[in-house]
Amino acid sequence: MIPLERLGQRSGLRLGIMGGTFDPIHIGHLVTAEEALLQFELDEIVFMPTGQPPHKSSQVASPEARYMMASVATATNPRFWVSRLEIDDAGVDYTVDTLDRLRAACRPDAELFFITGADAVLDILTWKEPDRLLGLCEVIAATRPGYDLGRLAGVLADLAHKENVHVMEIPALAVSSSMIRERLAQGKSVRYLVTEGVAALIAKSDSYGLQASLGRNGHDLGSG
Ligand code: ATP
Ligand code: MG
Repeated sequence: MIPLERLGQRSGLRLGIMGGTFDPIHIGHLVTAEEALLQFELDEIVFMPTGQPPHKSSQVASPEARYMMASVATATNPRFWVSRLEIDDAGVDYTVDTLDRLRAACRPDAELFFITGADAVLDILTWKEPDRLLGLCEVIAATRPGYDLGRLAGVLADLAHKENVHVMEIPALAVSSSMIRERLAQGKSVRYLVTEGVAALIAKSDSYGLQASLGRNGHDLGSG
């Protein structure tokens, strides 16, 4: 884990925050983060796996397992790191809480960019304190296949700082964590949908109930 204190050492920091359940982290998340880095000239991206997600109840892997998979997936990129903030701090449940903590950890001239999928940003009004949130950071909404952003203008209409929401087009990747969990449950390969390290970790761990179904160490996972 990289401590938040480190953020305060950097003046003019442009920090991307990629929030998610990451159950498991997949190439869609990594491509999105890399594209945001590029398009918005960010210095670093912090992946922030949720503790107990307020909006999601069908989570399968433990926070610890999701954190480990995110760490393994991002290890080879020097600009990517993973934070335990939401996992370890019981008082941080919502995006706005996370942004408060990050703001407090950074210098006043830091710029925060919350990166999220188009599906998630359409729900922004259900987030805690959306108006205050948009005062704390810019939101980067990544468009992915199957999500029509036609509704976005209407959703944002009554929000102050709506100009702080930016749409970012990413190379089309119709991959989601739920699709990966489904494939795993059916015994299908997830090779290339997640990084090699994550596939190996899934095969070795009990996160998705594979040990029982494979009846052995699961080394074949991803080769089918
Ligand atoms: P699930 O299918 O369980 O909802 P997910 O694939 O959407 O999982 P999350 O952890 O919910 O993964 O997503 C974290 C963030 O990444 C969200 O903002 C989500 O919209 C975004 N995201 C997920 N998959 C993609 C993708 N293929 N391309 C771009 N953004 C994505
Ligand atoms: Mg999702």
